[in-house]
Amino acid sequence: MKVTIRTIGCRANQADSATLGRCLDPSSVEIVDGFDGADLIVINTCCVTAEAERDCRKMARRALREAPESRVVLTGCAVTAIEDFGKDIEGGVEVRGGGDVPMEELAAWINGKKGIGQGGGDIQSFSGAGRSRALLKVQNGCDHHCTYCVVPAARGPERSMPMDEVMDNVDMIASSGYRELVLTGVQMGAWGRDLPHGYSLAKLVEAVADRFAVGRVRLSSLEPWSVGKNLIEVMAGHGRICPHLHIPMQSGDDGILGAMGRGYTSADLVRVIERARAAIPDLAVGTDVLCGFPGETDAAFDNTLALLRAINPFYVHAFPYSSRPGTRAATMPGQQSRQVARERVRQARSLGEEMFTRFVEGQIGKVREVIVEERRSGESKGLTDNFIQVALLGGDPSPGTLVDARLERGTTGGRVRAVAIGLK
Ligand code: SF4
Repeated sequence: MKVTIRTIGCRANQADSATLGRCLDPSSVEIVDGFDGADLIVINTCCVTAEAERDCRKMARRALREAPESRVVLTGCAVTAIEDFGKDIEGGVEVRGGGDVPMEELAAWINGKKGIGQGGGDIQSFSGAGRSRALLKVQNGCDHHCTYCVVPAARGPERSMPMDEVMDNVDMIASSGYRELVLTGVQMGAWGRDLPHGYSLAKLVEAVADRFAVGRVRLSSLEPWSVGKNLIEVMAGHGRICPHLHIPMQSGDDGILGAMGRGYTSADLVRVIERARAAIPDLAVGTDVLCGFPGETDAAFDNTLALLRAINPFYVHAFPYSSRPGTRAATMPGQQSRQVARERVRQARSLGEEMFTRFVEGQIGKVREVIVEERRSGESKGLTDNFIQVALLGGDPSPGTLVDARLERGTTGGRVRAVAIGLK
């Protein structure tokens, strides 16, 4: 049977799809790229914004159009959080899994038997080519319930992968040849809360970095309340943890932050980032901004731009707010037009571009550790420890290797130029 897997959404979804792929039985299932010729197309859905939901429907319709003979199955967040998701898609799709149903079970259904293929583990290489970076999902679910967010309904309560299972996965990633391990989760800062022995994210990160001796460890998105002193100390003191933090701010206006239920103020966020920057040299900070939240006035959005300037992230992911069914924000007064939200997204992104240029400017001439992700037609592409995408000049490093490289002024193919000066 030929199976195509498509994923919409975040890294947690990407990790889940990778688990599905790994658990398919290679003796009876072939994973193929396109829709045409596939017997089964699985779409792992997302519902975090109305746009993501639309993308899922669009993809399902395209699959039905391009492969009318195949079965199209929807799974993941949208089918869990949105009642009857997919029912309106003409041509007929099936819904399988989602919610608390692990991908291993969906794989068992596809395999046509109870057992699973190669065993579980939420691991994925997302480098596109070559084996360089592995994604390890160590946590699922969220108990925070921000007023705009549908993720808790889709992902359920917080739960952590036990420490011994994390370590087994770390060993597997190392022995598979990966040199960068990215820890991820839906609300990763909650890792350990449901485990005995007083585990915390800081302890997890330290243990993983100690164990993953073949390369480096990166943390994916962390909410501001998860970036505590202990974590910063571990990041600052351990040579194998990438100096990179993605901390979603969402708004810079304290009234809007309160209405979002985020649980911090703009001043709290400034303190967290200042503390991290003081401890971790060349730290790259990225952030998310949600524009056009109900009640967000021009003055409130000005506060967001002001906070962006204050925390000075090197990239900004700005999204328009979209009302999600069942959330408290959906019924709040002061809903904004799409036009207003889009214009604010434009302003936040444009400020983000200025900040990116400034950050990169400050890195020119410095030597950074780069993981080579791709090599095609004599050109290598890579990623620095502090998350700058580079075009590598010089040497002939193969994908998956770590090299030291000096950043240069100028770009090649939209990437910052870097000269390789030695293998690690
Ligand atoms: S912390 Fe807030 S935004 Fe993040 S998943 Fe939980 S409820 Fe959603």
